[in-house]
Amino acid sequence: MECRKTKEQTAYPIFYDVEPTNVRSQSGAVGKAFAKQEYEEILGWNRLVPIKVNILGWRIYHNWMPLRTNLVNKGIDVPSVLCPFCLNSEESSDHVFGACGVAARVWNNICKWLDLPLILDFSVLGILIWLDTLSVNSKKQKLIHGIILSAWWIIWWARNEVVFQPEVSRKDLIFDSLRIYSFSWITNRDGKNTISWTEWLKNPLLVM
Ligand SMILES: [Zn+2]
Repeated sequence: MECRKTKEQTAYPIFYDVEPTNVRSQSGAVGKAFAKQEYEEILGWNRLVPIKVNILGWRIYHNWMPLRTNLVNKGIDVPSVLCPFCLNSEESSDHVFGACGVAARVWNNICKWLDLPLILDFSVLGILIWLDTLSVNSKKQKLIHGIILSAWWIIWWARNEVVFQPEVSRKDLIFDSLRIYSFSWITNRDGKNTISWTEWLKNPLLVM
């Protein structure tokens, strides 16, 4: 893992006695082990964003969010299990933070903004694996990780507005809010980062 960080090499865990399909799809126990390694050893805590944003990412990754389907699974009565953004699918972690049209638009906008390959698997794990397979150095990877965590934070904030204050919903402003909040968080925490707002809006990866 050290080479992965210092020499920009890619490291993959090796598994024995597993189905090839599980390795390809990152499903089952392999997917979980891969994800655990990715999150805890490679991605880890991101010092570019506040602790509350890291904690939210950790809770999303573990599917510990009080989403409608999770509440129903715990026996709590909720008026609807549908995603409050689109009212089309059940509100699961992978849906509301990834595949829902509202969230997918944010991910596509992030890829265009940072000039990165499009995300094909919008699940929570799929987004983290996408990050891990990017051909970028560790500094840029940390920045993109910080932006992903910030996006999840803003999506959660927008989701709660739709549920609790629909009259002031700003779900169409998630991407704009993400760029404002992540700029403030990341530039305040990275003492060596002198990136301007204009450079940030253009593409922060170009000046790193
Ligand atoms: Zn939805």
